[in-house]
Amino acid sequence: MKHETSQALFSRATALIPGGVNSPVRAFKSVGGEPFFVERADGAFLYDVDGNRYIDYVGSWGPMIVGHNHPRVREAVADAIGNGLSYGAPCAAEVTMAETITRLVPSCEMVRMVNSGTEATLSAIRLARGATGRQRIVKFEGCYHGHGDSFLVKAGSGMLTLGVPTSPGVPAGLSELTSTISYNDFDGATQLFEQIGPEIAAVIIEPVVGNANCLPPREGYLRHLRELCTRHGALLIFDEVMTGFRVALGGAQARYGVTPDLTTFGKIIGGGMPVGAYGGRRDLMQQIAPAGPIYQAGTLSGNPVAMAAGLAMLELVQEPGFHDRLEATANTLCDGFEEAARAAGVPLTTNRVGAMFGLFFTDAKVDTYAGATACDIGAFNRLFHAMLERGVFLAPSAYEAGFISSAHDDAVVEATLEAARGAFRAVADA
Ligand code: PMP
Repeated sequence: MKHETSQALFSRATALIPGGVNSPVRAFKSVGGEPFFVERADGAFLYDVDGNRYIDYVGSWGPMIVGHNHPRVREAVADAIGNGLSYGAPCAAEVTMAETITRLVPSCEMVRMVNSGTEATLSAIRLARGATGRQRIVKFEGCYHGHGDSFLVKAGSGMLTLGVPTSPGVPAGLSELTSTISYNDFDGATQLFEQIGPEIAAVIIEPVVGNANCLPPREGYLRHLRELCTRHGALLIFDEVMTGFRVALGGAQARYGVTPDLTTFGKIIGGGMPVGAYGGRRDLMQQIAPAGPIYQAGTLSGNPVAMAAGLAMLELVQEPGFHDRLEATANTLCDGFEEAARAAGVPLTTNRVGAMFGLFFTDAKVDTYAGATACDIGAFNRLFHAMLERGVFLAPSAYEAGFISSAHDDAVVEATLEAARGAFRAVADA
């Protein structure tokens, strides 16, 4: 594979853009090497500027659940563009979007559109703090909720870690208000609430963790959190930026039958445009400006072109059997990965939840952050490059979920598994 044009672009980029990229994981830092630059994307494929084609399991980090450049999404955007790019006054598509989200995710009785997942989570915790009059936020080790200051805090040792910032620049006074506990640890959550329950404004969680590989909730875990929050007067926020409309039409809350107070969205609802949203109980959402005093706003929020893309996408995911087909694809793919690894003598387990999956270089079942970080990361990095050389693009980090789209048909999956058989042999030989 030639990469000369990408290499030249990356060298120009690193001179002017921090790390050469506009979002860190794109830079291949953890897997090593340099990123390829994309010229175009279509269906299950990315095409780089050197003429190489890759089967894509990143899907723009989640939005592309119907594949790239889907004609229905593209046409909806083209139609919208004909009417101007942004109005700064309400448009009908915003109402249709609110009607669609509240119908598909009934816990969202009202919804507000924003421009990214980060904005959605920031807004949701401001609302939680404003509505409860409390300040503390609880998050889980390994969960990512965008780059807001309150979320750039992770657990240290022990079950209950108060405020250890992982990014310089986060004021200590703010990070001290974030408590981090272990995902899927029932007792850890119970104990935290016993200690500081009355301080907690909200618990925010990725109901299926997709930012520490792919970790499904243990049976009853989300319900346990729901009960703790209800008992202690805290709000439960499901960050469904990744899982929304992906692990089921109604998101993780539909799949696991647990109702949060607030939900955040992103990725799929924008159809590939910069969109986020947060929604939830009417009595809470009514506290957002201008209905209520908690301020949140956006120059481009509810943008007509972005709404058109998102609405086209949300129509496509409502087609009967859509999520079942993606889940079947994920199963074939992950079974195939396991078989290829076994044949090469490489320990591998996989997790799949709907149209999300994760690869773990271990024999053990993994459903905790500690389990995910204990895997052989070097082996993942070797697999990543061996797959890339064979024309398959996995997320360039062992801590990111993989994404299936409806464009990943049988032929694409078989081509992926053919590549995997060679790639796992290469991992074993290294
Ligand atoms: N929440 C979750 C669960 C996410 O996966 C992400 C992004 N990967 C975000 C929030 C932040 O979204 P954005 O990158 O659009 O700001």
